[in-house]
Parts: sequence; structure tokens; C-alpha cells
Amino acid sequence: MIDPTCKACQGSWPPKTHLIADLDLSKVYLHEDQFFPGWTVVVFKRHATELFHLAPTERILLMEHVSRIASILAKVYEAKKINYELLGNQLPHIHWHVIPRLVTDPAPLDPVWRVQHEPLPLSESEMQKSVERLQQALQHTR
Ligand SMILES: [Zn+2]
Repeated sequence: MIDPTCKACQGSWPPKTHLIADLDLSKVYLHEDQFFPGWTVVVFKRHATELFHLAPTERILLMEHVSRIASILAKVYEAKKINYELLGNQLPHIHWHVIPRLVTDPAPLDPVWRVQHEPLPLSESEMQKSVERLQQALQHTR
């Protein structure tokens, strides 16, 4: 259920202050690097490393969460496109990166991992503001 060696299971990543929503099967966080504004992470609550490890109902619900977050990000950030990435090479615990790509995107044809940049953390108050804005948008979609 929980892997004590896993950062996601321990709750040490992503930072709790970045929490947008605690849904039934996943938690949603704003990513610490906001170089791509609105970069969000949907973390599955129990330890699992592959989609095929999930029960079909869990997979469906998780995709519903991802899709719902994507639609909110599209609206709030006026995204031109949303990227969905499920990798787990560095942190083998199911977490979707949901990344709005804006008209101002420096490399619209590339995946974010290929765009060299210094990570851009928000200030504490900017982070709080962004989290609250997404929480409000989420409430309006229920
Ligand atoms: Zn884990």
C-alpha cells in the first residue's frame, strides 16, 4: 500500500504547501518549478508504479481526475494545449504531470523536459495565490 522508501508515499514530495486538492484516489499539487506556468502534478495516493497495477475502476477514476484538472488548467491559464506525462523514471510512483502550454511558450514543439531552463519556484505568496485560484476553479466544476 505504502512504500516507506518512496518520496511520494512519505509525503515529502511534492511539498504540502503546494496542495490544490485531495481527491478520493489522488492528490493534486502545483509543481515546484513554475517555468511553465500552471505545471501541476496528480499523484496517485497509494504506492503503484504502473498503470496496469491499478484496478480498472482506479484507472478510470484517475484519468477522470487528470482530465478534470486539465480542463481547469486550460481555463485558468488560457492554455493553447495541455501536455500529459506519466514517466516515473526518477520517482517510480504513479504521478501525472499535467502541463499547460501557453501561447508564450518558449518551445511549443518540445516536451518540457527538453526545454533547458533554471527551475522557477514561486514566492510563498505567489504559490498560495495560484493554489487558491485553482481551488476556486475546481469548486466551480463540481
Ligand atoms: Zn510511493
